[in-house]
This record gives sequence, C-alpha cells and structure tokens, in this order.
Amino acid sequence: MSALCLSCGVCCDGTLFATAPLAPGEAARLAERVSVLDADTMEFPCRALDGVRCTIYDDRPRICREFNCLVLAELAAGRITEEEARAFIDEVLTRRRALADAMGLTDDAGALREARALAKANALEPAALAALERLTRALMFLKLPLPG
Ligand code: SF4
Ligand code: SF4
Repeated sequence: MSALCLSCGVCCDGTLFATAPLAPGEAARLAERVSVLDADTMEFPCRALDGVRCTIYDDRPRICREFNCLVLAELAAGRITEEEARAFIDEVLTRRRALADAMGLTDDAGALREARALAKANALEPAALAALERLTRALMFLKLPLPG
C-alpha cells in the first residue's frame, strides 16, 4: 500500500465515493467483511476500514486493487512529486476537518455524510455549506472514474 494511502483513506471512508462495483462472487465471499449493498455493489464507509488501514488488504475486492485516485496516478506516472501529492491529500483532509469544525463535529467523514444530507435538504447552515463547497472542489481533482 502506498505511504500516501496510509495517511488518507478517503476512497474507503465515503468521502470520495458512496458505492463501488463488486466483481462476480465477491458480494457472497466478502459479505461479512465489506459493506455489501447488493450482489454487484459495495457501499462506503467500508466496514473493513480501521482508521485509514484496510484490514482485509490481501483479500480486498478487485475494485480496490484496480483503483488509484488521480493524485496517486499522477505520482506513479512521475508527473508530480511525493511532496506535491502529500500536499494535495493534506489539503483535502484539512478542508474536511474545517467542514467538521463548522458543524461542531469530531468525526470528519461522518460530518461530511451529514453535511451532504443536510445540503440535499437545503438545511445546511451557510458556514458549513461554504466549507462543503471548498471540500467538494478539492475532491473533484482527486476523483478518477472507477474502472468498470
Ligand atoms: S484517495 Fe488516493 S491517496 Fe487516498 S487512500 Fe485513496 S488512492 Fe490512496
Ligand atoms: S476493502 Fe479495504 S481497500 Fe477496499 S474499500 Fe474496504 S477498506 Fe478500502
């Protein structure tokens, strides 16, 4: 696992994706270990995540093996440095923390889920909405389409 991922985890905790596809047979094989939504889909946050560590790393779903976020992909291709990649992930985590602060919550990923639900219902207060928008802009640059 990349050192970057070991201090991030946003592609597993619901920050980046709500759901991801499972390969045939994985829903049954991993039903007790990941958060299976239906026969073809897992949802986030993933129950296999402990902090920012995957507890089933050697047996994780195919999608988890294939997915690299844009920052990791750019780093692997040599187009950005380790420091630049680190700075980008830190910025995402800082913006998520700021959102949780604006909501008076301590669980950053949980605050984001709540903020999204409140924003959908037009019930998120302005400071938190501004923080959510700042985070969403950063996440747009992190997100690559999930491989099919
Ligand atoms: S979002 Fe990128 S850096 Fe963060 S854990 Fe996922 S792949 Fe790793
Ligand atoms: S199985 Fe592991 S790598 Fe895949 S989403 Fe869950 S915690 Fe992340």
